[in-house]
Amino acid sequence: MMDTQVGIVGAGPAGLLLAHLLRLQGVESVVLEARDRAYVEARVRAGVLEQGTVDLLSEAGVGDRLHREGLVHQGLELRFDGRGHRIDLSELTGGRAITVYGQQEVVKDLIAARLDAGGELLFEVDGVTLHDLEGEAPTVRFRHEGSEEELRCAVVAGCDGFHGVCREAIPAGTLSVYEREYPFAWLGILAEVAPSSEELIYCYHERGFALHSMRSPRLTRLYLQCAPDDDVAEWPDDRIWDELRTRLATDDQWTLGEGPIVEKGITPMRSFVVEPLRFGRVFLAGDAAHIVPPTGAKGLNLAVADVRVLSEALGAWFAQGDSAGLDAYSETCLRRVWRVQHFSWWMTSMLHRFPGGDPFDGRLQRSQLRYVCSSRAAATTLAENYVGLELV
Ligand SMILES: Cc1cc2nc3c(=O)[nH]c(=O)nc-3n(C[C@H](O)[C@H](O)[C@H](O)COP(=O)(O)OP(=O)(O)OC[C@H]3O[C@@H](n4cnc5c(N)ncnc54)[C@H](O)[C@@H]3O)c2cc1C
Repeated sequence: MMDTQVGIVGAGPAGLLLAHLLRLQGVESVVLEARDRAYVEARVRAGVLEQGTVDLLSEAGVGDRLHREGLVHQGLELRFDGRGHRIDLSELTGGRAITVYGQQEVVKDLIAARLDAGGELLFEVDGVTLHDLEGEAPTVRFRHEGSEEELRCAVVAGCDGFHGVCREAIPAGTLSVYEREYPFAWLGILAEVAPSSEELIYCYHERGFALHSMRSPRLTRLYLQCAPDDDVAEWPDDRIWDELRTRLATDDQWTLGEGPIVEKGITPMRSFVVEPLRFGRVFLAGDAAHIVPPTGAKGLNLAVADVRVLSEALGAWFAQGDSAGLDAYSETCLRRVWRVQHFSWWMTSMLHRFPGGDPFDGRLQRSQLRYVCSSRAAATTLAENYVGLELV
């Protein structure tokens, strides 16, 4: 039997950052992770950090490598009909910017900070179940290194992602679910080649959406809209490069650099929210509570925003017995969650080809793209949401 103040399930960005922010306030926690350390540190996912995420990681003392190695971007390109249009994010938002730094790098930095501080972080736990969620002392049972364990805590933080167990542990009928599936997916690759543009390129094309992004000066991250039931085996490297060249082609001399593909995967596109984010003593944060399609680059940033609110609320509760923050946690987070849901849906709807869509849809999308690229008000809407709104 172990005792702690906060039992955290999941060592993704949400769980690890929550543990770190709690420690800074003197609150103890134990983090339980199903996978091994190497797997978690190598998992390639998001890579765009909002200004507020960068500021929080810096203030929390885990931003050194991020500042050394992250790529600060002050703009992005929207490309359609063979032409690129730059959206000047910084000029439109009073100097704010995004930083390109892989999620797995954030995770590595947070794991190092946790272990350096002597914090409890158990990898390869198995069979996690939650109990007594409505009582004063909820427990988490699990197996670790061959023995059955029980963690008794004051609060459980469900940071175990979309397929985790914490959301499922909440009695049926308690949570309302809001969701939307999209009739397409993203095929993502990581290629060992210098990026072909200094900034991200979001490309609308008749054959489907494409995104040119990067992880470092030597690693390019590229995505193609594909069918949701496509298998990576149907996408040999040559087909991927052909399709990328076609969709990203411009009327001028722009060329796409190509190199060995070192990672390939298909990600479904989904919008999903449960409400509320709390049941008794269990609080859901990050992908455990909500999923956005990746077009807005928000999943990781939203997880960070949740745990910022949760860590402050827990700090006040443990230090002064003040429960106002915890009582407001769900409502506070859901305001940002829905703003981000709308932005992610809007970017997705503007940039993807909808199978079965008629020419009317295509005309509307082009009109919207031209508007965003020609009206300062419309461009500002995109820019301020993309770099992250301070207040929602
Ligand atoms: C395949 C994929 C690709 C993505 N690509 C992008 C992208 O390109 N751009 C973008 O903006 N966002 C992307 N996202 C979204 C972004 O990565 C997530 O929003 C972000 O990881 C959320 O962090 P989290 O900590 O809430 O959840 P996660 O990162 O999912 O972390 C949850 C953790 O809990 C662990 N866990 C799960 N179940 C259990 C259990 N029963 N017991 C113990 N531990 C458990 C998991 O192993 C994991 O480590 C992607 C997501 C996925 C799944």
